[in-house]
Amino acid sequence: MKVIVTGTGDAFSNRRFGSSALIQTSEGFVAIDCPPACLAMYRQASETSGIQINPGSIHDLLITHLHVDHAGGLETLGFYRRYKAPGNGLAGLWAAPAVMDRMWERLAPSMDGRMFSDKPKTSLEDFFKPGLLDLECRTKVANLEVRVRWTAHAVPTVGMLISDGTATLGWSGDTEFLEEHAQWLSEADLIVHECGESAKHATWAELSTLPLELQNRMHLLHVPDEVTLPEGPMVCLNDGDVLDITSPVTDSA
Ligand SMILES: [Zn+2]
Repeated sequence: MKVIVTGTGDAFSNRRFGSSALIQTSEGFVAIDCPPACLAMYRQASETSGIQINPGSIHDLLITHLHVDHAGGLETLGFYRRYKAPGNGLAGLWAAPAVMDRMWERLAPSMDGRMFSDKPKTSLEDFFKPGLLDLECRTKVANLEVRVRWTAHAVPTVGMLISDGTATLGWSGDTEFLEEHAQWLSEADLIVHECGESAKHATWAELSTLPLELQNRMHLLHVPDEVTLPEGPMVCLNDGDVLDITSPVTDSA
């Protein structure tokens, strides 16, 4: 599984884009979260990674939660697909129920074309193909299988286990440090965990209490600009990094 890390910043970063990624699939890119300035983000990630990213052909978006640094680019992408790149159809927009419940509430004031007392002219379905991520079983998105788990943050937020049949990516979503969340993610071959160093986020000190074997498979993002993490087994990601995730070969002998 090839993953382009498109952003590693937190909501206040002035150097990096919001924490997000694109997974390459045979059906096109599947995005994890969609931060503000997403078109600039995808252009920069194309240059850094050497992998051409066309935002007009992103197949699906998986949204962990509605904070700006994770969902603030949806308006740009929705309008871009509708008016600048209409040839590729609408992108799938996937979120867990309590996140999807308020998706249009977040987007409507700037996207529904309503003037003063007019009726809304558009709905979420005019910009995206919305779909719910099932909390109980796997949801098929492009050729991936996605499992989600609620975690503890300031608003409803999920972590994700995303498999392509060969390898599995674990994505913590924004989260307080929860050992059970990290254990749930430990099924993945590689885990991208947030490290926010503040309230409602996990700290490096907390994450470094996890078993070493798990830390060795854990990469960090969402670290505030002013924080320098100690050296350790958990690798800190940069915007534009490419992760090639493989499953360890099991010895059948
Ligand atoms: Zn958040």
